[in-house]
Parts: sequence; structure tokens; C-alpha cells
Amino acid sequence: MDTVLSLEAISKSYGRIQALKEVSFTVPRGSVFGILGPNGSGKTTLMSIVLDVLKANTGSYSWFGKANHPSERKKIGSLLETPNFYHYLSATDNLNITSAISGRGTPEDISRVLELVKLSERKNSRFSTYSLGMKQRLAIAAALLGNPEILLLDEPTNGLDPVGIMEIRDLIRSLAQKGITIIIASHLLDEVEKVCTHVAILKKGNLLTAGHVNEVLAHEDIVELAAANMEALKQCIADMGGFSVLREEDQRLQIHYPAGTANMEAINAHCFRNGITLQLLLNKKRSLESKFFELTND
Ligand code: ATP
Repeated sequence: MDTVLSLEAISKSYGRIQALKEVSFTVPRGSVFGILGPNGSGKTTLMSIVLDVLKANTGSYSWFGKANHPSERKKIGSLLETPNFYHYLSATDNLNITSAISGRGTPEDISRVLELVKLSERKNSRFSTYSLGMKQRLAIAAALLGNPEILLLDEPTNGLDPVGIMEIRDLIRSLAQKGITIIIASHLLDEVEKVCTHVAILKKGNLLTAGHVNEVLAHEDIVELAAANMEALKQCIADMGGFSVLREEDQRLQIHYPAGTANMEAINAHCFRNGITLQLLLNKKRSLESKFFELTND
């Protein structure tokens, strides 16, 4: 697949704090790429480096497989910090000013981006009358001026209510359908899982994993079991073997098998033969959240 961004062993320290440690991954064209990590894991630092706002100490990155060139930067729209819009001006006037300052976009472009973020109907209202969600969509509209191929968003749903979050999610999906590659830094797993095709998970500056969501999540099958006698059940499953992890949690036995090897019928039959009647036999779909907590837990 065509790569739009590639990072090669990027490291960055702020004095004694090492914010990024040899981080490498690639972002495929057309993906919605989530950079995930708890607070302080280095997401904003990483975004700032690839936007040339900060310099890495070591390592390199390239957009579109080329050395950093101003003409390539025009293809990238970003929202790193909320722009300072004028409260007493309308959306159109604010975008006119943003466009004049950044040199991106034309008057036609302004109506196009307002349409994209569904603010056309309110384009003449003062910014001060907007909801938080509308303000955030206007900020994304500003990032879309000049019709970029890539959009970088740092925590785009921060501070929004559930409706505002859903609107941003729908917007991201519709922009992705138009072929824009979107890179989102977020600590909201559920959000990322709903819209992202790819993820990179960071913890204290280390890259834990990166790739297609299905690949990141599909390394194993998870089965949950329960029976009246949990000790006997545990022993029975241990005798059967074939698993990578076996643990008891909240009166449930959780068993991890290598992907594609969990055989529910065989587990059930084995337990039955050993005199154990199962109260629960569950093939759990792995969520990004469970993977994330497993990876980021010390
Ligand atoms: P958050 O979700 O809280 O924004 P983040 O994942 O974006 O976190 P960064 O903001 O990149 O993480 O911070 C990574 C680490 O670097 C943190 O330990 C942070 O305290 C530290 N850091 C970030 N900026 C600076 C700075 N200007 N000076 C010193 N330390 C910094």
C-alpha cells in the first residue's frame, strides 16, 4: 500500500524527560490512523515533530516518500491547538481571516469546507453563538482550507458532549470516504476503535504496537468460562493445554489461545467428560480497550 508518512526511529527529550524513544511506523494512504496513548505518552510531541513545529533529537520522517519540502506541506492540514477565532465574527469571516494569514484556500474553498463540516446554515452567525461542537467543527474546517490530502487532528473530541463527539466521528468518516488520510491523536479508545482503520499505541514514549486494527487485535482468541467449581474448571482447562494465558477474574476463567485455535466444542466436551457443567462459554471479541489496557498496564 502507498505510504503517506513514514517515521524512522524518532526520539525526543525535554531535558531529562524522554518523550519519544525510537518510534518507527508508517501511515498508509487512505487510512484513518489513530495515535493512541495515555496522557503524557508523547502523542502531541509526535504530531508536532511531523508537522515541523518541533525538532526530533534523532531519527527522521518523510511525507510522501520525499525529503521535507514546502510544496509537500501544502498537502497537509492540521489541528494541533484550537485556533483563536474572533468571537464577534461569523464563521465565514473567521475563515477568511485564517485563509489570508495561512495563504491556504480561496473564497470558494471557504463555502466548500463549511459545507463539509455542516456549518453552511450557520455560516453567518457569530462564533460566540456556536456550541462547543460547532466551534470544533469550524476549527476542522480551517484545517481543511486548501483541500489537503492529509488531515492531522490532536484530540479532536476533547471536552465535547456525546452528541458533539458523534458529529466529529461522522465528519471524520465522511472525510475519509472522500479519500483524505486522517491521523488522529487520542486517549479515547472507544472513539478510535469506532473510526480508525489503523492504530499506533504509545506508552511513555515507547511504541508498543502499530498496524491495521484487525492485526493489532487479532493475535489471539479469548474464551471465557464459568462453572460452580472454579478450581476444578481451572485444573481441567490447564490439563487440556494449548493456551497462552489462563487467569481467573470476577468468577470467570479467561483463556487466551493463539488466533484461530480456540475450539469451543472441544472445550465444552472436555469439561463435560471431566464432570464439569459449564455455566458460561463465551467467545469474546477482543476490543481495542482490552488490548490497550493489557499493553499499557505495568
Ligand atoms: P496529553 O494527552 O496529556 O497531551 P501526550 O501523549 O500528547 O499527552 P506529550 O504532550 O507529547 O504527551 O508529552 C510527553 C511527555 O513530555 C510528558 O511527560 C510531558 O510532560 C513531557 N513534555 C511535553 N512537552 C514538554 C515541554 N515543553 N517541556 C518539558 N516536558 C514536556
